[in-house]
Amino acid sequence: MKQYIDYQFFQKQIMLMIGLSLIPGLVYLVFGWLYGMFMPALIWYSLMGIVSLWGYRLYRKYLQIETNEAELARWYEDVKLFMYLIFGLWTWIFVVFAPESESHLNYIAIFTQLGASVVASALLVSDRKLFVPILLILILPLTLFFLLLGTWYGYVLAFFSLIYVGVLLYASNNTYNLIQKTAYESRHDVLTGLYNRRFFIEYMEKLLFRLKANRQLAYMYLIDLDHFKTINDSLGHDIGDKLLQKISGRIEAFASGTHIVSRIGGDEFAMVSQELDDKETCISESSQFAENLLEVIKRPYVIDGHHLYLSASIGISYIDLHLQGADASNYMKEADIAMYEVKAQGRDGIVRFDKALSDRIARDLEIEKKLYFAFANGAIELYYQPLYSRENRITGCEVLSRWKDRELGEISPEIFIAMAEKTGLIIELGNYILEESFKTLASWEAAGHYCNHFSINISARQLTNSAFVADVKAAIEENLSSGFRSTIYFEVTESILVEDIPKAIRVMQELKRLGIRFAMDDFGTGYSSLSYLRELPVDELKIDGSFVHHIEMSEEDETMVKTILSIAKTFDLKVVAEGVETKDQYDFLLKHGCDLFQGFYFDAPLEKEAFYRKYVTASISLPQ
Ligand code: C2E
Ligand code: CA
Ligand code: CA
Repeated sequence: MKQYIDYQFFQKQIMLMIGLSLIPGLVYLVFGWLYGMFMPALIWYSLMGIVSLWGYRLYRKYLQIETNEAELARWYEDVKLFMYLIFGLWTWIFVVFAPESESHLNYIAIFTQLGASVVASALLVSDRKLFVPILLILILPLTLFFLLLGTWYGYVLAFFSLIYVGVLLYASNNTYNLIQKTAYESRHDVLTGLYNRRFFIEYMEKLLFRLKANRQLAYMYLIDLDHFKTINDSLGHDIGDKLLQKISGRIEAFASGTHIVSRIGGDEFAMVSQELDDKETCISESSQFAENLLEVIKRPYVIDGHHLYLSASIGISYIDLHLQGADASNYMKEADIAMYEVKAQGRDGIVRFDKALSDRIARDLEIEKKLYFAFANGAIELYYQPLYSRENRITGCEVLSRWKDRELGEISPEIFIAMAEKTGLIIELGNYILEESFKTLASWEAAGHYCNHFSINISARQLTNSAFVADVKAAIEENLSSGFRSTIYFEVTESILVEDIPKAIRVMQELKRLGIRFAMDDFGTGYSSLSYLRELPVDELKIDGSFVHHIEMSEEDETMVKTILSIAKTFDLKVVAEGVETKDQYDFLLKHGCDLFQGFYFDAPLEKEAFYRKYVTASISLPQ
């Protein structure tokens, strides 16, 4: 454990020491004058004055370099020298006065030395390398003096003086250990031995001062371990703790010397670089080092026979004070935002905080704020995109949500639906979409038109909500005749598999009893494990538009589409191709047995009225 020195504490001791020397020192001047020792006392006192003056300058200097660790270390060397000098001077006057037994100055001298050693052991207690030699410098001459008396009580006093210094050393040493322990614990994390959050923030604040003064830059990381909770939950906290220790050890070994590393929370670490001179170095070093660090963290761990693999999400923030004067917490927040961006992008990666990211976050916040009001004010509309059959005739539609805000413009349902899932609004919003769609479908029915295939997107959180089946049932009973129920398809994505799978299956089966069918949306983009296709009660696969787009360009996508079509045949499922934009795509899909088609080649999603005019009532209307 490295010795911890509280510089500020020592700064105070300088003034105390000056006071304790100059004021009692006057007594020596007076006694010296009274007993014919004035010259030596005067020389001694003058030297004391010079050393004190220097001490005072050291005291003042501290205030200027308070934030600079390196300068403080050099300053402290001077402070130590000051202490040696001042206690050395006390020993010197002892040597001068001690032989003066006739004038009884020897009593003064002896008492001085005993007093000085108490002062030294109390004032210098936080640095063992300082109080041990100084105590010896003070007491050993006294011991020697007693020995030189050559009398039996001289020997006894010499012996006593040794006991005395022994006790002082013992007591100081105990206090020293306690101080060091407390100082260590207040700055370090108990589990990993890394610095703790408090120290890190203190350090950052000092660093910011220095960067500003020297016009330099630095960068910091916030590192969060991915899915660490799973390890804790499945293998227990013991293993979790050991893993944290190992990871900390690795990060420390990799970064120590160049970075300050701290554990700031359960599985969160923060790091800050050294001072750097230019922006280019800062940018390139921060990315390169983060990549290497991620590699180091990702190497396998073996703990109590378990082989563990772990990745991390790293957010980077540049500390560039030319641009803005911000405090430590500001940079921590930036790195935090960047780190969350990594999580949002699927973890195991590195993101730098920049203007674009912060603008996006601000926009997302704005969207989140407005979404509820948009929903409450009926600003979320439903559009309908036609589905075509193999005979090139419209056979149904998919309901798609639209939101256009006056200030923010059009907001993609991908964004606001995800946000509604996050905030929980999706339950209300989802019910609203269901009811509105059912009403539309009922109005077509009332006008005497029949829709074969009516698709509604259902989000995972909606599906697993405990009231979902009851809500759907109520909405259906209120709006639809029984004949229409079997034309309804709920489109779900593979994200429902992340939730409770047996529960999802149960809900789907209950809904199927109401007559509703299921489509697996975006098929091929997720896990696409065949085993769940057998388990989940789906009736239809939707080939994701991204494969369809690249049919003519990429052989792999072509193969993918053919594979999905043949899988569907094996499982006896219908296939809908999304995002069909060209005749070539349509022909290809037709040739390989696709059942239904959707995309701009046929039509874009349309407003309810427009869809009604164009398809429901016009000549190319839905089949009667
Ligand atoms: P999705 O379910 O895969 O919907 C198909 C998306 O492809 C729609 O985007 C549609 O407008 C677009 N699209 C249709 N034809 C073409 C084409 O030929 N080319 C291209 N490039 N795109 C085409 P949209 O409306 O922006 O919706 C995006 C996603 O948002 C949807 O993907 C769906 O996952 C989600 N979403 C939309 N509405 C709802 C909703 O009411 N509820 C839920 N839970 N999700 C919704
Ligand atoms: Ca869909
Ligand atoms: Ca899709």
